[in-house]
Amino acid sequence: MLKLWNTESRTREAFGPISNEEVRMYSCGPTVYGRTHIGNLRAYVIWDVLKRLLVADGYTVIHAMNITDVGHLTDDGDEGEDKMLKASREQGRTAWEIAKEFEELFKQDAKNLNINLPESPLLCRATEHIEEQIKLVKDLEEKGYAYKTSDGVYFDTSKFPEYGKLSGQPLEEKLAGARVEASSEKKNPTDFALWKFSYPGGVDQETYLSSPSAISHQLPAKREMEWQSPWGLGFPGWHVECSAMAKKYLGQPFDIHTGGVDHIAVHHENEIAQSVCAYGVPLANFWVHNEFLTVDGHKMSKSLGNIYTLDDCQEHGIEPLALRYFYLGAHYRQKLNFTWESAGAAQNALNKLRAIIREWDAPTEISLEYDDRFMADILDDINTASALGVLWEMVNNPNLEPGVKSATLKKWDSILGLGLSEYISKPLEIPQNVIAIADRRWEARANKDWDTADHLRLELENLGWLMEDADNAYKLKPKK
Ligand code: AMP
Ligand code: ZN
Repeated sequence: MLKLWNTESRTREAFGPISNEEVRMYSCGPTVYGRTHIGNLRAYVIWDVLKRLLVADGYTVIHAMNITDVGHLTDDGDEGEDKMLKASREQGRTAWEIAKEFEELFKQDAKNLNINLPESPLLCRATEHIEEQIKLVKDLEEKGYAYKTSDGVYFDTSKFPEYGKLSGQPLEEKLAGARVEASSEKKNPTDFALWKFSYPGGVDQETYLSSPSAISHQLPAKREMEWQSPWGLGFPGWHVECSAMAKKYLGQPFDIHTGGVDHIAVHHENEIAQSVCAYGVPLANFWVHNEFLTVDGHKMSKSLGNIYTLDDCQEHGIEPLALRYFYLGAHYRQKLNFTWESAGAAQNALNKLRAIIREWDAPTEISLEYDDRFMADILDDINTASALGVLWEMVNNPNLEPGVKSATLKKWDSILGLGLSEYISKPLEIPQNVIAIADRRWEARANKDWDTADHLRLELENLGWLMEDADNAYKLKPKK
């Protein structure tokens, strides 16, 4: 049985879904104003393993994930410049073009990492669900949880006594610690925007420009992404999309909500406040959060400028699947520090594994003993690190039939997603051009033409092959 650490109860709980056969799961997805970095990708790989694990455990998984293609504000509160508009200004392209490009790149990165993303409509764009978001804000307004200021519609956190429960920080404590923005008309510092106006009062640009206040204030730039609403022209607050789309595609409550630990204190508290107050039932039963990928002990993040992408990894000879292996080497609730050395070690380990399993026979039957141990580890709060330990132990066991090893590994790979199955029992195919060079070298060697033989050996090495000479034949091996 799967046990998951639930952030909300702060305990490791036995997982059981609301419906018997089906698990409904929501993951906060990428903000597509820039390239997804390998810190973000750690989160998506972990949730992919969880999803595969649930499938292996016999469930059907309905997984929804949002694409935040409408601007986040640069500030985690509701202040600052819109990130999408900032990128648009800096790159001289429309916000729509930027969102489209980075969404595509995200999907490609996910594919290269063997992440099974949800498909449309469950992979859902915020900009295509404005109506649902407006409806949620209207419901909150009707129930008395929302109020208007000159720059938007806000959620009144003082009306939700459970605010702070997820992060274990009572409302009074959160209020005491919250920063008060100088210009804010918010009733409480923890209140957050449900709807923001493009121009004060929710008027359009023309009306605003003709108003007396426009002369004395700095003019906001014309927004590319704005919509009409019952409160005027504007755009949704950044937490609303998850509550609205999760309700639409999964219903409420649903089973598992995932995200990074950075989302606990603000984003997820706010999602819960909105959804519970609007619909009177919990949002999700299990809240699971991954720790950060760090660089020199600091969170990898766009704002700190210490990010690497999958392209950077490829340039350093690290394949996407080696990165996946690297992620799985640590428990998801522990920080994982990224260095090129440790990523290189993961690449070497994966290469070694592939080389070993190429030699195995075709799958026969699973080793129940090893499988029980592997499953016990991975079902224990997704302990991929321990499960990989069992995997290597099985791989190195000289007394186990190769066909049994193949069958067992194949099953595990459906959960780990390392793409190992395709290497099982597939002896390495040596490209024809490599064989031709090796033949020429063998001939040169026979003729004692050592210069040519050495030159051709180097040529082979550059192509990634080592040539080993025996008395009567040569052997080609891939360079590690
Ligand atoms: P964002 O696009 O910044 O909203 O992040 C997308 C997802 O990645 C969220 O679930 C974040 O919590 C998560 N995340 C962001 N940075 C990191 C990091 N350095 N390590 C692990 N997860 C991260
Ligand atoms: Zn979210």
